[in-house]
Amino acid sequence: MPVVNRDKCKGKAECTAVCPYDVFEIAVLPAAERAAISFAGRLKGLAHGWKQAFPVRAAACHACAECVASCPEKAITLKRVAAV
Ligand code: SF4
Repeated sequence: MPVVNRDKCKGKAECTAVCPYDVFEIAVLPAAERAAISFAGRLKGLAHGWKQAFPVRAAACHACAECVASCPEKAITLKRVAAV
């Protein structure tokens, strides 16, 4: 499943465009989650309205890595999860 680095994501939405399984949505990072971000990450967040990518349908991921390759911020990694 994809994991989005909150310090890096700028919500540029390339992942939403390339994912064949519609895993991502762009939304505003909740205020409660902003405190955990680095100072540089908070500056970025303020600059782009805190829009970030969220893997809201992560269970649909097929690990093709298109999102990893397309992200200009190198904000996405794939994490192996146990099958259920
Ligand atoms: S690895 Fe492929 S299927 Fe999974 S979220 Fe990224 S683009 Fe979508």
